[in-house]
Amino acid sequence: MKLDHLTADWNYPTNIKQGVGRIGELPKLCKNLGMKNPLIITDPFLAQQPMVAKVISNFRDHDMHCDIFSNIVGNPTAQNVKEGVTAFTNGNHDGVIAFGGGSAIDAAKSVALMVGQTLPLWRFEDKGDNWTRVNTSKMAPVIAVPTTSGTGSEVGRAAVITDVEAKLKRLIFHPNMLPSIVILDPELTIDLPAHLTAATGMDALSHALEAYCAPSYHPMAQGIALESIRLIKDNLLKATLNGQNLEARAHCMVASTMGATAFQRGLGGMHALAHSLGALYNSHHGLLNAILMPYVLKANRSEIEGRIRRLTRYIGLKDACFDSFIVWIIAFRQELNIPHTLSEIDITAKDASLIGQMAFNDPCAGGNPIQFSENQYTEIFMNALNGEI
Ligand SMILES: [Zn+2]
Repeated sequence: MKLDHLTADWNYPTNIKQGVGRIGELPKLCKNLGMKNPLIITDPFLAQQPMVAKVISNFRDHDMHCDIFSNIVGNPTAQNVKEGVTAFTNGNHDGVIAFGGGSAIDAAKSVALMVGQTLPLWRFEDKGDNWTRVNTSKMAPVIAVPTTSGTGSEVGRAAVITDVEAKLKRLIFHPNMLPSIVILDPELTIDLPAHLTAATGMDALSHALEAYCAPSYHPMAQGIALESIRLIKDNLLKATLNGQNLEARAHCMVASTMGATAFQRGLGGMHALAHSLGALYNSHHGLLNAILMPYVLKANRSEIEGRIRRLTRYIGLKDACFDSFIVWIIAFRQELNIPHTLSEIDITAKDASLIGQMAFNDPCAGGNPIQFSENQYTEIFMNALNGEI
């Protein structure tokens, strides 16, 4: 299936090659960026899969050399980035192919940043004007190839890296971390199992929703978020129930990229809590956002009610009101087989106040429509733990 009507080249927010089979263009695109010897950065599971073998043989067919670096954990660490930089330098590479889910892409973007720096990674944490310390001339070019439809890291200007010592996730940021080229090939997602399709798709939905509700002025991002939410509503269940449905896969992939494009506008409480819980429990990021979603929306009700009403009209819910949106989210989650409470994924109340404190201090808290206190975050967490909507 070629899906010609779902094939296109876009230059916003970066150079995007959308369509079935576009991965075949990778060697040509590398050459366009002046890469002759790229380092493919992916996770250890994907490194063993036929799709990566195919990429390598395609490079060989084009008389190009490449290596693979795959020593990356889910929720990548500073150590992973450090080893990636060593692999890049030792192999005399001239560019990075970020291939995989959010973890691989975030690690790859961080490696591409760090190959040209003398300062350590945490000095580029997204705080104040830290990003101005980056020596941009030495950054390696990146082509991003997502194999999941969720994080949208392929169009993000930041990467989430876990600080193992401090037990928290830090955001590394520079505007030039936005990959130069993105290949969105829905065929790369067809083997993704149903539970991951659902969880990553709900991450994309949480990006679009939080961006849509964020208080800052950015109508363009708001428009993109709206259409992303509609695409997920109409396609995520289809892609989850039948992974081979390429059309649904294509729409989910674009929706995910759109969600991340929109969240330049800001994220909010779902992500503030999901980052904190992810650092403490190492649970799946998308799954955490999916579970937290209705509880955080409910807590924000007073600020977002009108906006959500407009959204319900756009996505075609029967009753255009806030409550019907919450009812839809809960039903949608259920159809996707996502738990209703955090306790179902073995999270406990043990660290409740620490979680409230961590969420309060997370950079995403700033994008939430209401500036919640530590106690309020703890309260939302407890509601999500016990299923109290
Ligand atoms: Zn996310």
